[in-house]
Amino acid sequence: MPTRNYDAIVVGGSFAGLAVARQLHGEVLLLDRNEIGAVQTSACGTPLWVPEAFGVADSVLQVHDKLTVRGPTRSVTYDLSAVPFCTFDYKRFCLGMLGQVRARFLRTSVIGVDDGAVVTTEGRFTAPIVVDCSGWRRAVVNSGATATAAGGQFSFGLETHTDLSGEGLHLWLDRGLIPRGLGWVFPVGKGSLIGLGSYVGLSKLKPALERFLRDCGTVGTTYHGTYFPNRLFRPTVGRLFAVGDAAGQCLPLTAEGIRPALYFGVQCGRIVQQILDGRLGLQEGLDRYRTIVDGYRVPYRILRVAQWMAEHTPTRWFVTLAQAAARQPMLPRWWPRYGWFGRFDPDPLVTGTGAA
Ligand SMILES: Cc1cc2nc3c(=O)[nH]c(=O)nc-3n(C[C@H](O)[C@H](O)[C@H](O)COP(=O)(O)OP(=O)(O)OC[C@H]3O[C@@H](n4cnc5c(N)ncnc54)[C@H](O)[C@@H]3O)c2cc1C
Repeated sequence: MPTRNYDAIVVGGSFAGLAVARQLHGEVLLLDRNEIGAVQTSACGTPLWVPEAFGVADSVLQVHDKLTVRGPTRSVTYDLSAVPFCTFDYKRFCLGMLGQVRARFLRTSVIGVDDGAVVTTEGRFTAPIVVDCSGWRRAVVNSGATATAAGGQFSFGLETHTDLSGEGLHLWLDRGLIPRGLGWVFPVGKGSLIGLGSYVGLSKLKPALERFLRDCGTVGTTYHGTYFPNRLFRPTVGRLFAVGDAAGQCLPLTAEGIRPALYFGVQCGRIVQQILDGRLGLQEGLDRYRTIVDGYRVPYRILRVAQWMAEHTPTRWFVTLAQAAARQPMLPRWWPRYGWFGRFDPDPLVTGTGAA
């Protein structure tokens, strides 16, 4: 099969890949092994301003202005109204984004990189710029090597859709439920997503999740789960850009990976477009993207320390800290700073031709 050439190749068509591709003009190829929006791996909880900023507010299923953190004996409720959260429909969100993408989409699995070409089940493709947005497996950066979640750098989450309806987001910090991890109930309009996450990457969570479901008085339907990183990796490797989980950009502690993937995706996409326009050299662009990501290392470290505390300190201490953080004048000091993290101003909507 002949090698086909493009200006840029984006591997992965979820949050990170769609945010990068949305910024790009020119001959751009967007690759994913699944149809866009077909395979949800996330509870899809994010600040309400995120889908609004991308013009996909019609994907919102439920708005939440309360977050309750539950310990074994006490709970604390946060008033999120300064920056409300929402849960959204993954497929609708992704298809809304795809509609704004001008790149050509091709459904194929990336096998690795060989002699500068991206090798896929549909043939070889080359481009001066390749962006890895393939999630924790880092299909391009790892160049086809079997991905491993060893080394304590990855958490694991498993969740299921249930018919339990309710209000607000709920997080459980209870070692009886899951040691070194957390549970959640995220209402999604009709029903809730209920899940467990292990900060140390334990993947056999189904028995514990079924116990949790019984405690909540409900049963699971379809289950989905995967690993996600809990520390930053290198955002550039050689001439490759990496964005989202492929660059370890999921936030530690809260496991919020959607808005970092979108935020850094927009930043990376803007830089890539400047390279395509001849306004930046490739090396300059790589350096600039790395500098932007490096600017966030301190907040990531702070969240990493907070995750360590959630794993290791007695839960009652952590809940006491959580209670202090929910009080006046603490909450208005930190919540908007966290809630607006990654606030971006995506470029005006475009009408794309991204469908295959
Ligand atoms: C159970 C669970 C619940 C979560 N809940 C939340 C939440 O509520 N809020 C939040 O902010 N974050 C949540 N997260 C984290 C969040 O899902 C991730 O951080 C986020 O999806 C990262 O986006 P991404 O685009 O970088 O990667 P992904 O969403 O993982 O997308 C990677 C894409 O690459 C494609 N791909 C992978 N390998 C290949 C290949 N070889 N060839 C071609 N394509 C490939 C995949 O098909 C996929 O479309 C949750 C995670 C889990 C596991």
